[in-house]
Amino acid sequence: MSQGKLDDAHDYAKHALSIATDMLQIAEIQMLLGDVFRSKEEWNTAVAHFKKATEIDSENKEAWFGLAKSLESSGKGDDWKTAAEKTLQLGGGDSGLRSKLADYIAVDEGTDRAKIQIALNQNEEAEKTLEGLIPLLPTDPKGNDELRWTTVLLQLGQVKRRLGRYEELEACSKKLLSFKKVHDVLLLRGIMNIKVDLAVALKGQNKMEELDTLVEEVLAVTPDDSETLFQKGLLLGSIERQYEAVKYLRQSLKLDRFHARAMTRLKFELETIGDARTQFWCPHCQEKYTIPVYPTDPAGIPTMVFYVKTEDVIPDSVRHVSCRSCGRMTTLILWVCRNCLEGYAGALQVRIDPASPVVRGQGDETYYHRVNWACNSCQETEPRVHIRNKDPREKRFFEAMLALRQDLVEQIRFFDQVESEMSQFE
Ligand SMILES: [Zn+2]
Ligand SMILES: [Zn+2]
Repeated sequence: MSQGKLDDAHDYAKHALSIATDMLQIAEIQMLLGDVFRSKEEWNTAVAHFKKATEIDSENKEAWFGLAKSLESSGKGDDWKTAAEKTLQLGGGDSGLRSKLADYIAVDEGTDRAKIQIALNQNEEAEKTLEGLIPLLPTDPKGNDELRWTTVLLQLGQVKRRLGRYEELEACSKKLLSFKKVHDVLLLRGIMNIKVDLAVALKGQNKMEELDTLVEEVLAVTPDDSETLFQKGLLLGSIERQYEAVKYLRQSLKLDRFHARAMTRLKFELETIGDARTQFWCPHCQEKYTIPVYPTDPAGIPTMVFYVKTEDVIPDSVRHVSCRSCGRMTTLILWVCRNCLEGYAGALQVRIDPASPVVRGQGDETYYHRVNWACNSCQETEPRVHIRNKDPREKRFFEAMLALRQDLVEQIRFFDQVESEMSQFE
């Protein structure tokens, strides 16, 4: 319809509406108005009119069809699906709508399946599932359709990255970044995550010049709030520029000390670099010397679990130190100091020894004694984040940190299981 005819139709319908008394007649007029606004690509107004029509005449398949198509064009998530299902139930719609709905459902089911496969680390299976969905997605996507693509491509990128298929990861990330709607919906955090993938892809293919340009572009993003700084650290760490990553992660945490992802990532990067050292003071012979912080020794895992479960502390490293001077054993529980983020704080766990100057006279040798240990850098004495003080932010922080440490969560589950099996024999 031309603009003039549309206006005529609009005026006519409005007039008809003002004099109509029969409900079914009103529904018809609402549909006519819906059609007018659909032609003008004013989707929200079209939706409102078709909705009124379905409310008056809930069995009107044409009204439902109009509503489905307008909702789909309006790009508002999954709402159109319900309307499309209703249309087809009533025997309405056309083959286009039917196949579109079938594709839509197939993509939904496929991404649900891929999500499970990714969680189970079945990457090749997930890759196959996701690649099978691509032909079901609309070519030349716009608006809402971009978001359908996005769901699939985000998962596919994750899988390609795990499988080290960098050329395909690059294609995935670039396609995602080309979507206009993605920038509106994913916001900075989501976009930065895609750029991290792209950086990994470029590094994997040794495309260093393009990588440098990308890094420069990301580092120039402002403002430097804790989230942006975290993302910068994340990107640098992903391309093995760990020392710079650590710098940005510390800055992020200085602005928000409850940024669980930054804290977890900082620990991860420090462990990857591997050269962190801390001062050790032997509680038996009082000899002082520096020792490495990482890695946690295998015997340290149960201690780590114990600390998480009973002390609400997530240690970053646990080491059994056999003193180089007196030969006696001390367990060292360490975490990055929450105050200065530079040094390590923690606890010493020693077997009570009547000769020890620290725990002298505390009991017999079968007992352990714990000594809290101040940060060796800033001397902060209570540097850990502790939920005992009932600060709800700290409680949330602890829980978020734990959720990011799936390795620890699995260990805890394992120990709980052993414990419950043991208790059955008692
Ligand atoms: Zn010693
Ligand atoms: Zn400190």
